[in-house]
Amino acid sequence: MKNADLAALIRTIPDYPKPGIQFRDITTLLLDGPGFALSIERMAAEIASPPDLIAGIEARGFLFGAALAHRLGCGILLLRKQNKLPGRVTGINYALEYGHDRIEMHADAVQPGQSVLLVDDLIATGGTALAGTELLRSAGAKVAHAAFAIDLPDLGGAARLRANGVDVTALMA
Ligand code: 5GP
Repeated sequence: MKNADLAALIRTIPDYPKPGIQFRDITTLLLDGPGFALSIERMAAEIASPPDLIAGIEARGFLFGAALAHRLGCGILLLRKQNKLPGRVTGINYALEYGHDRIEMHADAVQPGQSVLLVDDLIATGGTALAGTELLRSAGAKVAHAAFAIDLPDLGGAARLRANGVDVTALMA
């Protein structure tokens, strides 16, 4: 199966979540067992050496992140929306097109010096992934690589991450 065939497993939903947005829906890829397995294999093939931890971004990043962590034999830490984690948290606010959002992680989830691979389903403007990178780095983690199923390059997120010293790989654009 080629990457082009993987792309055929993603459907585009027009005007979701609001008019004018072409939403890339990865649930159809998740429904396809061989396609999902191949996605994880391809993501793993881009990883030079397994990190200490994967950081999965809520919520679809948990799916790709957990499968990739299992494949690489490492743990996964959760970057969650506000007030979802039960323990002591550290968090960061970041700007959206309108308003702002916040992601949090358990304060003791990562140890200084640990290498962390950031994983999400999709990178658009890069705001979410950059916030995750900043939060992890503020805890002393080394974030050298971020992996996505889909990159929307026109929105500049991958370039922003690279400008911040993060190597970016994606299965499809
Ligand atoms: P960014 O912060 O890079 O602008 O947006 C990326 C975040 O929003 C990711 O967590 C991603 O899951 C979500 N996202 C934004 N647009 C889409 C989309 O078209 N499809 C999917 N599946 N997720 C999206």
